[in-house]
Amino acid sequence: MNAILHAQQLTKHYPGGVALDHVDFTAQAGESIAIIGPSGSGKTTLLHCLAGILRPDAGSVTLGRQAGALDLRTLSDAELSKLRREEFGFVFQQGMLLPELTAVENVALPLMLAGTDRRTSESRAAEWLAALGLAGKERRRLGELSGGQVQRVAIARAQVTGARVVFADEPTGALDSATSSEVLDVLLRSVAANGRTLLVVTHDPNVAERCGRVVELWDGRIIADSAGLGSTAASGNYNFKGAFNV
Ligand code: ADP
Ligand code: MG
Repeated sequence: MNAILHAQQLTKHYPGGVALDHVDFTAQAGESIAIIGPSGSGKTTLLHCLAGILRPDAGSVTLGRQAGALDLRTLSDAELSKLRREEFGFVFQQGMLLPELTAVENVALPLMLAGTDRRTSESRAAEWLAALGLAGKERRRLGELSGGQVQRVAIARAQVTGARVVFADEPTGALDSATSSEVLDVLLRSVAANGRTLLVVTHDPNVAERCGRVVELWDGRIIADSAGLGSTAASGNYNFKGAFNV
């Protein structure tokens, strides 16, 4: 087993109560894990603590690395944001992309922030967009794309720098069910094809059952952790044209 994220006794309080209550959780490299539970059960809080966006009140998160496990508590805010940029990718329900930029500019941005020149960044971004079914739409602004296409842009951006873990919080929450299913397919397949780990928060049982594992939260605690039905994402023969080996 090859743990990539390991949380121990994670606890987070808000003035209104406890959002995470002594949560232990381990994700193995390459797993796709759905996080389910009712609204307010702590799903987003858990994701944010695991991703180093939020610091827990107590407990630890460690990121597995070849050079040795890294305890997120030891990092400064600047180091945490560097870690998020380099190791993690994020897909949110909506927003977080820049509407005034084109699809290719949005996807290229993380590469440019990491110091890659514009030409190389945009060419890699265009490969990703093509692999995710958006060939020919590179120069469109986000307002000229459908909701499902915008989420594909977000999926491309989350992976363009080679993130090891992709965090998705209700990524299909704003889409109709047919589009949701397509977008989720693209997310699961592209993440699996690249050997990344996926943590996806969802209300949608169809999403959950297509992941390899389902973790259920209730009042800030994990009340179930079981194998999902979905393992097809890892075995699908999907043509990514090598665009992902970045
Ligand atoms: P979920 O994503 O499952 O809907 P959240 O993790 O967003 O749940 O929230 C868990 C609990 O923590 C809820 O009771 C919520 O009201 C509370 N909470 C979350 N974020 C904040 C915040 N910034 N300030 C106060 N309470 C919060
Ligand atoms: Mg939430």
